[in-house]
Amino acid sequence: MENRVFNFSAGPAVLPEDVLLEVKEDLLNYKGKGMSVMEMSHRSKDYQAIFNDTVARVKKVFGLDEDYEVLFLGGGASTQFLMTALNFCSDDKEANYVLTGSWAKKAYTEAKKAGKKAHIAATSDDRNFNYLPKDLAFSPNPAFLHITTNNTIYGTQFKKYPEVPNNIPLFADMSSDIMSKPIDVKKFALIYAGAQKNIGPAGVTMVLIRKDIMDRLQPDLPTMLSYKTHIEKDSMFNTPPTFPIYIVGLVMKWIEKKGGLEAIAKINEEKASLIYDTIDNSGGYYKGTVEKEDRSLMNVTFRLPNEELEAKFISEAAADKMSGLKGHRSVGGCRASIYNAFPMEGTRKLAEFMKEFQKNNPA
Ligand code: PMP
Repeated sequence: MENRVFNFSAGPAVLPEDVLLEVKEDLLNYKGKGMSVMEMSHRSKDYQAIFNDTVARVKKVFGLDEDYEVLFLGGGASTQFLMTALNFCSDDKEANYVLTGSWAKKAYTEAKKAGKKAHIAATSDDRNFNYLPKDLAFSPNPAFLHITTNNTIYGTQFKKYPEVPNNIPLFADMSSDIMSKPIDVKKFALIYAGAQKNIGPAGVTMVLIRKDIMDRLQPDLPTMLSYKTHIEKDSMFNTPPTFPIYIVGLVMKWIEKKGGLEAIAKINEEKASLIYDTIDNSGGYYKGTVEKEDRSLMNVTFRLPNEELEAKFISEAAADKMSGLKGHRSVGGCRASIYNAFPMEGTRKLAEFMKEFQKNNPA
């Protein structure tokens, strides 16, 4: 659509235009029901159908079988930092973390705040998180190993997931790369993701739990913080984020139409390489901030020769309808977030803009 900008925001982020148009079409009167999805009781037959369809599509797109529970919860991925630790750490079992950036650190800190034993199995903070640590050292009795598959702020992404012994459940915060490529889901005992980057709007967090770890759930937790509550009531213990869940369903339909995760992954690779190639061919004008082998296909982080040029770059890009290129406030620089719904055309435009900018603004 003509007056829309290319939105490089790290999240909430761009949604597929087809999805927005469908939402618009059905906003006031959903499929002749005489009301908006927003206005439906979460216990109504009509909404239940939307909910069930969303769960079914998530399973189909992501390749989940009956071994997984699919939950849609409020509270953001940040609440999952706490819930994972509360629900799976017992007095003699420690939460293990791979610290690869700010979000991973928050997950670790939250476990400690909850009074749980938390152990750092690996960290890359020795080099300001510009790579992914490969060697792990577990605590004596791990409750789980927690990784952040894509580090939204630093711009790293696991291409190969850590190998863990069978008895240690692997947990993952996939907030910023969920469904960006096909993965072997079975490796993961628990996956969570805030929807607002790759699969929908802010307000809903998807949690996938492999059923074989349910016997490890801790009893007697506060109701809303217990996975048991939400599993037993199929995410309907209280009012779930009904409208965001409906949009997640539409995004799943869009992924299916695109050809599924294989097709999405190919497009994502092509989009990212347009920008990384521009960085690598700039003679050092643009500098990637992380080790090449660990580069994220979702969040491309880079620097310019100085902060003045960075500010100019970001503001000239914004004037040319490319918004959200400022790096996270904790690290500075530039960041192009190019999730599933970000159009190829926008990455081409950015690559061209980068080349022009370099020509016009020598270091
Ligand atoms: N984990 C990752 C990897 C993130 O990128 C974010 C948000 N940017 C969060 C967790 C926190 O998510 P929320 O804001 O939904 O709590």
